[in-house]
Amino acid sequence: MAVFLRSVLFCLSLISLAFSIPTADSTQQSSLRPNDPYSVKEQAFGPFRKIRDSIIERIWSIPSKPASHSSTSTSPRTPDYFRARYGNDVVLRFQLRTEDDAKALIQAADILFLDIWEGTNQWVDIRVAKDIVPSFVGLLPASLHNSYTPLMHDLARAVYDTYPVSPSSEENTPWSGPITYHNWRASPQPPQDIFFHDYQPLSVIYPWLRLIASLFPTHASLFTIGKSAEGRDIPALRIGTQRDYTEGNDHTTRHTLVISGGSHAREWISVSTAAYIAYSLVTRYGHPQFPHVTKLLDHFDLVFLPIVNPDGYEYTWTTDRLWRKNRQTTDITFCPGVDIDRSFAFGWNGHDGRDNACSDDYAGTDPLAAPEARVLTEWARNETQNNNVTFDAYIDLHSYSQEVLYPYSYTCDVEPPNLEDLEEVAMGLAKSFRLTNGHYYGVESACEGSITFQDQNKNIRIQTDSQGGSALDFFYHDLDVKFAYQIKLRDTGTYGFLLPRSQIVPTGEEAYEAVVGLGRWLLGNHGIESIHDRESLWGVETSPTLAQKTKVAQKSPAESPEFDDDEFDDQAAFELRRRRRR
Ligand SMILES: [Zn+2]
Repeated sequence: MAVFLRSVLFCLSLISLAFSIPTADSTQQSSLRPNDPYSVKEQAFGPFRKIRDSIIERIWSIPSKPASHSSTSTSPRTPDYFRARYGNDVVLRFQLRTEDDAKALIQAADILFLDIWEGTNQWVDIRVAKDIVPSFVGLLPASLHNSYTPLMHDLARAVYDTYPVSPSSEENTPWSGPITYHNWRASPQPPQDIFFHDYQPLSVIYPWLRLIASLFPTHASLFTIGKSAEGRDIPALRIGTQRDYTEGNDHTTRHTLVISGGSHAREWISVSTAAYIAYSLVTRYGHPQFPHVTKLLDHFDLVFLPIVNPDGYEYTWTTDRLWRKNRQTTDITFCPGVDIDRSFAFGWNGHDGRDNACSDDYAGTDPLAAPEARVLTEWARNETQNNNVTFDAYIDLHSYSQEVLYPYSYTCDVEPPNLEDLEEVAMGLAKSFRLTNGHYYGVESACEGSITFQDQNKNIRIQTDSQGGSALDFFYHDLDVKFAYQIKLRDTGTYGFLLPRSQIVPTGEEAYEAVVGLGRWLLGNHGIESIHDRESLWGVETSPTLAQKTKVAQKSPAESPEFDDDEFDDQAAFELRRRRRR
């Protein structure tokens, strides 16, 4: 049956893609409803748009867009465009040793408006124009002068390589135009994986979601939680039968897990991974080889929000691959965008150094200033208050650094009440990631996952994913979700946000195993099934095809040297962390 469904899915995929993928002048597929075109509100910038663009272009030494490039096109530009736009930039990794190092980096990056990619308490990655490097380093203490190395030798090429290739091309050259039916029919790859051979634009993702929902109506449905700042639908795919609930077993509420991705526009792997998990669950439901998936979907609803930030995501396809925020207007006309993951109400700290609209982590003027955060908040509250829903777990997918982060993110001063449970499940999630493909994922409190040094009475932090106003803290604290995590997916800096397409499926696989492991753990906890061997919960033994593929990671110099698949070490690290905390 599953084989048949996959065949049908493939055929319908071809038909759907043939009719739904727009040409360069079409924008209609960015809505969940085929005939509900949104209007891109670029015109809202009016005469200021040119001023804005020219200022930004001057700051970053960016050439004007090619004349042939349309703002609504999703086809990539020529290599020359990427070379001109990103060729002068480099991403540097600074190794940190002291608090003074961290402070100096913050100040220098603030002064020069640099793009901080990612950071832990050992390193920080910063994008900087090559000709700025000497003045940047000149602002730093001597201890940092020789403590940095470039992560990518050719940033422009790495950006260019993340856009899709035509499956029919033997040379793997990126698109020269929109995908056609012929392109896809020519693909020699297994049909069920076509969607995941490349990162996909909104114009493919929206019809693909509609297709999934229409093919599996017994356990999948598509809806929107609301509109983005520019009026695009924020799609949600609900998967599950709730059979246990509707048949009147021992449940009084609809138990639900929420998995979101794409709140930061450039983190494409979070979008593809959310889609991959959803696809794997929906196609494996009812299959005799995956009884745990059937059990999971009979008990839980899983709501996937693969693109929380559709406007920003679209912008990364049309204009700037490295854009992070949403695209709403701000008080500073030429600096649009609010960081959605700084915009939630709980722990919002927009007046604490996050009030510069030109900053990549601008939190907005008030809590929930970002429409995307507002509609997600309203949807989630409505679910719990009016629809008999209980959120048992929340996973917010981001990239990069391979970390499983638990609350709180807004401060390290407050300990979450169920810390031990949070840590236990986080270790299980990390173990599932590691056992699937051999990639090590760290476990941290979200506040520790950022650069945090104590400076007398206040924390010094460098912008990373986990700060005040996060979705993570909102779900954990305001909605009382006991198991809330932010997971930063691959890699650890070799490509950063520009993860090659070849890692879409492996990353999806390991995240899928982690979610299935979480489901099994929750089912055990709820007494739905009795599992005596807890250690087996987080393994991948239930999916032999994946287990057979388990292999040691190809470690790059930037990857953690701490990889070790000895189970004892998991426990030892866990205990070590616990002791350190006391
Ligand atoms: Zn992020």
